[in-house]
Amino acid sequence: MIKDFKYLSPRTLKEALVQLDKHQDDYKIIAGGQSLLILMRQGLVAPEYLIDINGIPELNYIKSDGKKGLKIGALTTHRDIEKSAFFKGAFQVLPQMENRLASIQTRNRGTLAGNICHADPAGDPAPVLMALGARLKLANSKRERIVSMEDFSVDYFETLLEPGEMLTEIQLPALPQNTGASYYKFNIIESDMATISVAACINLDDSGSCKDIRIALGAAAARPIRAKKAEAVLRGKKVTEAMLKKAGTAASEEAEPVTDINASEEYRRELLKVLVPRVVGEAMSRAQV
Ligand SMILES: Cc1cc2nc3c(=O)[nH]c(=O)nc-3n(C[C@H](O)[C@H](O)[C@H](O)COP(=O)(O)OP(=O)(O)OC[C@H]3O[C@@H](n4cnc5c(N)ncnc54)[C@H](O)[C@@H]3O)c2cc1C
Repeated sequence: MIKDFKYLSPRTLKEALVQLDKHQDDYKIIAGGQSLLILMRQGLVAPEYLIDINGIPELNYIKSDGKKGLKIGALTTHRDIEKSAFFKGAFQVLPQMENRLASIQTRNRGTLAGNICHADPAGDPAPVLMALGARLKLANSKRERIVSMEDFSVDYFETLLEPGEMLTEIQLPALPQNTGASYYKFNIIESDMATISVAACINLDDSGSCKDIRIALGAAAARPIRAKKAEAVLRGKKVTEAMLKKAGTAASEEAEPVTDINASEEYRRELLKVLVPRVVGEAMSRAQV
């Protein structure tokens, strides 16, 4: 049963930040409620104040920031992203990822920001955003700061967010030409969380060599991680099948997966050996113009 709480429904971001500041010690923000309500029903979370941000239209947007990239407001749902025509080129990996996240019902209510703040290491969006080099705008009543998606998740269900702070915007910096991205989630039950997931974003130079690459892994550690040793195998090289295989082995070794109800640690490592070459290979073919 859900413990009683006081419900607050701010109408502006400014009002919300004042309320967060006032109730610093005992509040929870609610967006789509797709993760939070489960925790509240299980009695794992019992805030005194529930601050509902759904009445703040200024947080609901996807917009282009000219040549600088894209900006996604904190109330943008998974379904908004899945259906949006804003995502072109390598950014199309984001709606593609959303299409396999949960059910339509959950995608209709759940927000991208809520998913990241929930910080489940098996969540789909974080590895994709890390591969795309996303940045997050965090705000409290006194200031704003920008952090990278890569630094944001710090442990199981833990983020850099401080008391009184909320995520207001996800920023996707523009990507250079000849960039491709791909994402694959391995799961047993369709639309379930990932057993393991891999995202990659690669930029090729004029000769087709790998100029830069980011590979991110989900459900492979206590938080989504970059596979930096795997990236190093490929960066600056004309990528061959043998190198992709070597990158897969490197990712499998640098990951820190656990054994749980879904899979053993060994199985997850084997999956990485197979999926990293496959996902990077697909990103490469998308980068070739
Ligand atoms: C049946 C089911 C299947 C699912 N399958 C998948 C799946 O396949 N892949 C996957 O990745 N996820 C999956 N999920 C999780 C789902 O995607 C997330 O629950 C959802 O995206 C969270 O967004 P929300 O808006 O509902 O967040 P809420 O539940 O409202 O909030 C989640 C957490 O984030 C905090 N929060 C929310 N917004 C902000 C903000 N702007 N700033 C600071 N803190 C904030 C809340 O306080 C809370 O701690 C599934 C969920 C369900 C119920």
